[in-house]
Amino acid sequence: MTKSYSNIDDAEKLFEFFNQLYKNNDKHVEKLSKELENHLDGQDPELTTVTCCDSRVLQGDIWENHGIGREFAHEVIGNHVNTVSLNGEIVTSGSIDYIPEHSDTPTGIVIIGHTGCGAVTATYKTMNKILEDENSVQAPTDILTRHEEQGEFSIEDYTSETEGITTDIYLLLESGIDTAYEEIMGEDLTEQEEINRLVEYNVDNQVKFLLENSPYSDTDVLGAVYDMDGTYGDPGRLYLTNLNAETDIRKLKEQLSRYQDIEISRQDSSM
Ligand SMILES: [Zn+2]
Repeated sequence: MTKSYSNIDDAEKLFEFFNQLYKNNDKHVEKLSKELENHLDGQDPELTTVTCCDSRVLQGDIWENHGIGREFAHEVIGNHVNTVSLNGEIVTSGSIDYIPEHSDTPTGIVIIGHTGCGAVTATYKTMNKILEDENSVQAPTDILTRHEEQGEFSIEDYTSETEGITTDIYLLLESGIDTAYEEIMGEDLTEQEEINRLVEYNVDNQVKFLLENSPYSDTDVLGAVYDMDGTYGDPGRLYLTNLNAETDIRKLKEQLSRYQDIEISRQDSSM
């Protein structure tokens, strides 16, 4: 297929960038050739991480975890753990099930949201648009349910995104972000504060979904927020916000008192 570039200079720059990446791959081959040999028989990482695809959130770099075979990493916009199955049912994504289901040793799943998340913002705007178009003060969840019952609701009417992106927004709504939206509507928050609060609640929803739908026997589920914009404190710091659905800061600090380096914080308890 012949490409028709909108700007040939930019297209050439892109290939210069690809070229640089391939050059860097040479260094990678050199650095890891010996280490890879020890891992060719298989993998048994103790950690599964779920992060947003945002290019400013550097999975692995966040906690300098670059060792081979130590982190099973899944990236998806809005860091949701659910997906639509072949039967059209909502199930846990296989990328998240894989390690807990195949490991004989205890494992941890860490769901990492981030402040300033575009996927959460798009979902927030979708909910705003539902209320605006319906000219309603009714909660978005009630509107969604009413339309669903009448069999006429189509979420595409409220987003201007592709079917794939709209599916991701739908999965965020399905995991409960619409209910969280209702909860914060009555509070005195700026738009950015509302969005960042939803980032935190979205992580809670994902933890809850996993605990309810995939009750792993020896897997801990942690929720965390990567603070990209300094909402919690230091930009770049990773804050623990949830442990196996426990969100009470005092209890979390008590439970994890031996682990001094785990930063625990929540926006909804600092208000
Ligand atoms: Zn994001």
